[in-house]
Amino acid sequence: MNETLDPENWEDFRALLHAVADACVDHLQNAREHGWRPVPESVRSALRLEGAKGLDETAREMVNQVLPYGSGNTHPRFFGWVQGTGNAAALVAELVAAAMNSNCGGRDHGAVYVEREVIRWCAECFGFPSSASGVLVSGTSQATVLAFATARQAKLGDATRKAGISSSPRLGFYAAKGVHNAVHKALELVGVGSDSLRLIPVDERGGLVMNDLIRAVEEDRKAGVLPCCVVGTAGSVDRGGFDPLEEMAAFCREEGLWLHVDGAFGAWTRIAGAPWERLVRGIERADSLALDFHKWMFVQYDCGLLLVRDHARHRATFAARPSYLEGQEAGLGGGDPWFCDYGVDLSRSFRALKVWATLRAYGPQQLGRVIAQNCEQARFMGELVERSPALALGSPVISNVCCFSAVNDPQLNARVVQSLQLKGRSFFSTTSMNGGTVIRAAFTNHRTRTEDVAEAISDVERELALLSQTPSR
Ligand SMILES: *Cc1c(COP(=O)(O)O)cnc(C)c1O
Repeated sequence: MNETLDPENWEDFRALLHAVADACVDHLQNAREHGWRPVPESVRSALRLEGAKGLDETAREMVNQVLPYGSGNTHPRFFGWVQGTGNAAALVAELVAAAMNSNCGGRDHGAVYVEREVIRWCAECFGFPSSASGVLVSGTSQATVLAFATARQAKLGDATRKAGISSSPRLGFYAAKGVHNAVHKALELVGVGSDSLRLIPVDERGGLVMNDLIRAVEEDRKAGVLPCCVVGTAGSVDRGGFDPLEEMAAFCREEGLWLHVDGAFGAWTRIAGAPWERLVRGIERADSLALDFHKWMFVQYDCGLLLVRDHARHRATFAARPSYLEGQEAGLGGGDPWFCDYGVDLSRSFRALKVWATLRAYGPQQLGRVIAQNCEQARFMGELVERSPALALGSPVISNVCCFSAVNDPQLNARVVQSLQLKGRSFFSTTSMNGGTVIRAAFTNHRTRTEDVAEAISDVERELALLSQTPSR
């Protein structure tokens, strides 16, 4: 009756962990040599769980059959979707956090203080009052759900927690066309429904047009809808565009509306210095802000943040302490606030440590320089595209996103992207723009060098020439 999962011999385990650590460091040191590649059938079938293989064999399998088959976002020429690269300090933090195995739902222990400090730092960074509240979550999608639940309750009152919203007037939400799908999904989840989202036209730089927002709110009021929340985007997923947050904040204040900002990646231009920091002017006036660390702060997946200006509002939306969670005056069961009172999760991992370690090791100055460098690289890619006879820009480069297309045969865009992925050369994704598919590059990569940008564009040109000679199937 003394069964345990601990290693039989700790010295053997120490050696094993050192060997795995070496393999992980080799993997990162050689990030340039391996991007995404398809997982071979033999490897997939080797994953099948049957019986127990012991720790040594399991570690060997992880190093040989899991580690090599990442999604490739550690590669310097990875520009697909918006995916961060991870960083060395956070890798160390992950190991430490795993050794501690803290449950960060609440109580009084070291991890909680680390998370509080990360949130305090973010509140200061984004110009929120020091009384603001926050909670680390899996990502911006999750943060958006929490933000909308809070905004909904701010509008309808605390009774909605029990009564629900079925007898309330229809709520109005507003966001620019091109807003991330996470916003639609969150509205579906909080019971408001994505039909309640009015999509407001954008200008040529991808920012919401104020007059159209004002008109939409007016029309809704006339139609008996209860306007609730305006969503501002700082860094739109398709184009890297920014909404006029200052004007939106002023409008929301006048109209008694909640301003939520989706700053998943773009919020971080705040620390990038001139001229990029100007893009997010007004973000400090938001009622809530959702953002990611795993994209443009280069922290390992997954980690996002919800910040809320009004601490009491935030808490009133989620706090509940049944008897088995009652706080104590002192001891492990003490401490306040508990993070379980600011979101959905009761059991929570020590996500904060990898963020804290990233900020501690590099500081906002260096992180900001890398963010600015990514914007410069996107701009450089835009210049290369404009100089190329085969390519044309899909929209102006505003921050870290560059969309472009084959001039002669835009039909080939998607095939070029797929082909380059399969060759493991350069990694782009696609999106649709002006009714067609374009090639899209998002820069949230601290490993990318100027040469990589040039090489990636040469890759596209070469692939395009090749494909235009072979008829499509
Ligand atoms: C990625 C992204 C999201 C969703 O964030 P997750 O961290 O993937 O949940 C929302 N909005 C924008 C603008 C994004 O780029």
